[in-house]
Amino acid sequence: PNGVEELAAVGTTSAEAFARAQAVIPGGVNSPVRAFGSVGGTPPFIASARGAYVTDVDGHEYVDLVGSWGPALLGHAHPEVVAAVQDAAARGLSFGAPTVAEVELVNEIRHRLPAAEKVRLVSTGTEATMTALRLARAFTGRDLVVKFAGCYHGHVDALLASAGSGVATLGLPDSAGVSAAVAAETIVLPYNDVAAVEQAFATHGDRIAAVITEAAPANMGVVPPLPGFNATLRRLTIEHGALLVQDEVLTGFRVGYSGWWGLEGLREGWAADLFTFGKVIGGGLPVAAVGGRRDVMNQLAPVGPVYQAGTLSGNPVATAAGLATLRLADASVYAQVDAVSAQLRTEISSALAAEDLPHAVQWAGNLFSTFFGAAGAAGARDYATVLTTESWRYAPFHRALLEAGVYAPPSPFEAWFVSAAHDDAAVDRIVSALPAAARAAAE
Ligand code: PLP
Repeated sequence: PNGVEELAAVGTTSAEAFARAQAVIPGGVNSPVRAFGSVGGTPPFIASARGAYVTDVDGHEYVDLVGSWGPALLGHAHPEVVAAVQDAAARGLSFGAPTVAEVELVNEIRHRLPAAEKVRLVSTGTEATMTALRLARAFTGRDLVVKFAGCYHGHVDALLASAGSGVATLGLPDSAGVSAAVAAETIVLPYNDVAAVEQAFATHGDRIAAVITEAAPANMGVVPPLPGFNATLRRLTIEHGALLVQDEVLTGFRVGYSGWWGLEGLREGWAADLFTFGKVIGGGLPVAAVGGRRDVMNQLAPVGPVYQAGTLSGNPVATAAGLATLRLADASVYAQVDAVSAQLRTEISSALAAEDLPHAVQWAGNLFSTFFGAAGAAGARDYATVLTTESWRYAPFHRALLEAGVYAPPSPFEAWFVSAAHDDAAVDRIVSALPAAARAAAE
């Protein structure tokens, strides 16, 4: 077989499609967690999505709590976003030349987060964090980077050490294929551990180019920063001449109008040197960005010596989706997402309490996840603690939800994503599925 027949004959059930996919795509998926490895079963192959719902090729409809892993803040296929995309597509799919819409999208980001004085659009969060590190190294003339265990910043070689998200889901300490030389330039520290950061700066302070951190980690489950932790990172990086990079790929313009910065830095009167964005700013199409201090961003070619480029960067169709999404994401959208998130946290907690299952539903803004067992109930403040929770209880919990028409993230280490389209009917379906799911988790 040359693969052509395989392509022509994609199956009509998820099971058939998954078998065909596994024959030609590693693991049958184009991003590892989608394979359902840690929850078991066949991943539903999605045929369409609208509002709070996704429908698979088997014809099952689910209330969606993945939301494309973050972008679907407004719900799927919002009519105004789809219209903006159709309109842009009709005018041409890609020019490889500047457009006015790119300036508008960047200004929308700057308006929400003014410390992003200049912004460069890229296509994925991985490119954004990769570029942020290159900028920090060039600007400081230093090589070392500090990251935190359990934080995920995309599949950048230097940032895969003790990473969250799929790396955590697969139980990998690191990724194979990252050279020892690259790994040696990354210092991995326990999250929320001020003493460890102070120690790293005391030992290597004049060699550290940047500290990169998820503004609020949500890739090892949700582990919010302890009060003052991010501000301490800000202080120490300034004291030692390193840059602070806050990765808001996931939190940016999802947890609030101004992202996590709006919930913390804005109130406390400080900002990172560089920010990375993705997900919501593309509204479901590939847009991400790195932005920050003008003097740092001006290191980028063609102004400065740091090379960075992309055939599809600022793609007009993707830019249209992002711009329409951000323009629609007003205070009422965040109020709705926050309210649904708070309600679901309460309902999950009471369903698990009814089964006497120790747990904690941890949250940062409207992102949340559940940790099971005594270690979970005691509160997970870092990745080492997350790994001592009873995460195996998530698989039966997930399966019971799926059977009841609720599509939760297929990994215990991912946040749950709600959207402004999660109305009472969608929430009711989740709430009525919870008792059986809690029973399954407690077994
Ligand atoms: N940074 C964070 C905080 C993320 O959550 C992700 C993706 O989940 C990334 C970076 C990487 O983004 P992408 O998958 O678009 O490369």
